Amino acid sequence: MISELGQERADALRRVAELGARLADLEALHEPDADGECPACVAPAPCVTMLLLRGDISSEQAFGAMRDAHVIDLARAEQPTPPVPSLTELLAQPTRGMDRFFDALLGLPTRADRAS
Ligand SMILES: [Zn+2]
Repeated sequence: MISELGQERADALRRVAELGARLADLEALHEPDADGECPACVAPAPCVTMLLLRGDISSEQAFGAMRDAHVIDLARAEQPTPPVPSLTELLAQPTRGMDRFFDALLGLPTRADRAS
């Protein structure tokens, strides 16, 4: 019984050390740069993640801050969309690399060999 408690205590302390190291790594990622911005979030420091890591705000407050933040409209940001070729156009393209591959696979002279 006593030895089990000692083992559990050692496991718990090791887990605390692991979590402490992970927390320190995460805080280092969100340290403000020379411009006073968080390089990971690209937001003014202290960012929401840093406040959450330090325990200054609750996860509810963090979600609330993210909900109120400006959301990028990806569909509008990608306008104008690049033209998408039709399947017919794609299939009409010559597949020289594929032809060379299969020629080499079958041991046939490649087009480059035939040309010379
Ligand atoms: Zn951040």
